[in-house]
Amino acid sequence: MILVIKENTVKNDIDELIAKLRWMKLENILTEENGRYHIAIVNGGDANTDFKQFSLFPCVEQVLPFTQKFKLASRAAKKQRSVIQINGRTIGNNLFAVMAGPCSIESEEQIHETAALVAKAGANILRGGAFKPRTSPYEFQGLGKTGLQYMQAAAKKNNLLSVSEVMDTQDIELVANYVDILQIGARNMQNFSLLKQVGKTGKPILLKRGLSATYMDFLMAAEYILQTGNPNVILCERGIRTFETYARNTLDIAAIPILHELSHLPVIIDPSHGTGIREAVPPMAYAAIAAGADGIMVEVHPDPDKSYSDAKQTISPQTFTDMMNVLRQIGKAVNIHVQ
Ligand code: PEP
Ligand code: MN
Repeated sequence: MILVIKENTVKNDIDELIAKLRWMKLENILTEENGRYHIAIVNGGDANTDFKQFSLFPCVEQVLPFTQKFKLASRAAKKQRSVIQINGRTIGNNLFAVMAGPCSIESEEQIHETAALVAKAGANILRGGAFKPRTSPYEFQGLGKTGLQYMQAAAKKNNLLSVSEVMDTQDIELVANYVDILQIGARNMQNFSLLKQVGKTGKPILLKRGLSATYMDFLMAAEYILQTGNPNVILCERGIRTFETYARNTLDIAAIPILHELSHLPVIIDPSHGTGIREAVPPMAYAAIAAGADGIMVEVHPDPDKSYSDAKQTISPQTFTDMMNVLRQIGKAVNIHVQ
């Protein structure tokens, strides 16, 4: 149930209502949107609980049922699209977020060179993996803490935000100390203990869609993070497994309008993992902005063929620069601003 609170309600009245909910053991989350408050009752109660009684509270305008299994991520809980503020920078609100950088942080020199090149081309967030979820345990696993230190310095120097994956609950604090956005990888989308723990950091979370996750699975995973009281979740479509095996994954562009319809959370596209084919990256990025995505995440390396991981899907700084120019033009047509 959602309790829509009347405009200009004083905080005391809301506190009184929340105290009553607590007394009834109804778990609830208070949210604010443009000065209007909503209380989402997310747990507790049974078939005999009379939720209608809350409409008798003078500060309650409406009592609405949830129409979806996911609650906090739903449009019912929040009509307007979420806008995420990170250190004075914005994700959402028709500003196209461009996260770019190597699949893996390989060396101090490599991440600094990449950061400078992508920043010059108009990226606003530096990506780079320090803890890598590799299919084979014999492949490069990432530089760990040292890599994060290199990336933090490179991002700062080039006035970029940063994003990196956290794979394990034991590394959350470490990764959170060095980056602005914590990434949950596709393989961990349903690692519920990890989701709950990263949520508690209060940092924005980039949640990647699982390899075979439905929209419902995806939004329920986001729900785990939102439940911790952290509203800053960015959904990332990064391709799913289908019967087609030529491409690494099948990028689901329809996820953009569909997730926007179901949820208020920002939706970005990862055309690199989404296709696994470097030539397909710019066209899929164009499709993403044309379909209304809130941003993209792209793998870029100064010398793509020499990438320690995901070389085949990594683009060069020149391709990235050319792609950004086209994105700016498409952005004008669909009213999305590209830096
Ligand atoms: C990545 O972005 O580095 C990554 C491993 O992505 P995914 O979890 O989508 O495979
Ligand atoms: Mn990669």
